[in-house]
Amino acid sequence: MNVEKSKKEYVLDFLARIGFKDNGLSDKTIEFIFSYLAGIEELKTNRKYNDHNWEMNYASFDIKKNRYIPVIDYKIFNLYHKGLLKKIDRKENMWPQKKKFALCITHDIDHLFGKSFLYYRKMIPHFNKAPIKNKLLFLGSFIKNSLNIKKKSIPDLGIWLKAEEKHNFKSSFLFFSDKLIEPSWEDSFYKYTDKTIFEGQKVEIGCVIKEIFKRGWDVGLHGSCKSYCNSQYLKYEKKRLENLIDCEIKTIRQHHLMFDIRDTPQCQNAVNFKVDSTRGSNISPDFRCGTGFPFYQYDLNNEKSLDILQIPLVIQDNALFRHEKLNKEQVVNYVSEVMEMVADINGCMTILWHNNYYKNDKEFQAFEEILNKADKLGAWGCSLRELNDWWRRKRN
Ligand SMILES: [Zn+2]
Ligand SMILES: [Zn+2]
Repeated sequence: MNVEKSKKEYVLDFLARIGFKDNGLSDKTIEFIFSYLAGIEELKTNRKYNDHNWEMNYASFDIKKNRYIPVIDYKIFNLYHKGLLKKIDRKENMWPQKKKFALCITHDIDHLFGKSFLYYRKMIPHFNKAPIKNKLLFLGSFIKNSLNIKKKSIPDLGIWLKAEEKHNFKSSFLFFSDKLIEPSWEDSFYKYTDKTIFEGQKVEIGCVIKEIFKRGWDVGLHGSCKSYCNSQYLKYEKKRLENLIDCEIKTIRQHHLMFDIRDTPQCQNAVNFKVDSTRGSNISPDFRCGTGFPFYQYDLNNEKSLDILQIPLVIQDNALFRHEKLNKEQVVNYVSEVMEMVADINGCMTILWHNNYYKNDKEFQAFEEILNKADKLGAWGCSLRELNDWWRRKRN
């Protein structure tokens, strides 16, 4: 077997950014790392779980058996101990402020009205395209919420900044465009002129987004359902958000993690996104890419590295609370264990917490406890934008 030069260069660049250089790596090892990053396994089927996303459920036994582990990251340290990789002498530390590991924190902003009447009014026009089962669920939720006045309040977006600020952490907030060329019933429909709650005040969503950005948090695009394979849609949505904050948007995550390894990276790259954080799971805390570190997306059609970083999503709230049905304590313990493992190897991991929770909800409290734990473990709590800036400087 003879790995092509471009693949080898691609893998060696990835290793160099983590701080290692080749000292006799076999072609088989290069191929192994390459296949995870490039997403070769994802080419084997067109199936999408719930019509959303490729999940590790579809992978071969060999890959699936390691789904909870950053196999590539472990492998790198094994190779180092075997003498097949050498440390690169660098003055710079692995992470800023001599932190032990990077915890990239992200929030997909799917809902900004809670279950208020405004939410239902916005959703109704789009629901005629939904399957009958979802129509009924929607109707049921409407009736239930109409009877429950308390739940009609809107969750305050400010609680997330406050929780992160306590530890000097930042995060990424990924917002929808307020207009879509081709909406799907599964998208979100807030206008930047609609009002939401921020730090106890009723404020226009557009003002909240600008304020979050002004304070140094990252604002990214939450790409609509139909945008993951359509660069025109992506361009349009990106522009709407850019016009609002008057600054270039570099970061993106696709809604419902809709992603196709065959064309999503190319579409995002074509409209100048610099970071995507979509490769993760909706149902399980998987290391889908075998690593928690950022890496450049590989264009499998044209066999070249793209100028867009993938910062793989590892753990999201829905996978643990909704799919695995864990309670608060179990979630905090599990995420803590993963963070300990990542801290041990000076690694990196990305988490996603949606914003549809109230201060007293177990999901939000779990988030706060996870940040406490992360801080104790020496985390650099960062946004996608900060991680992007740091990672791109690494080889220069
Ligand atoms: Zn979403
Ligand atoms: Zn989501």
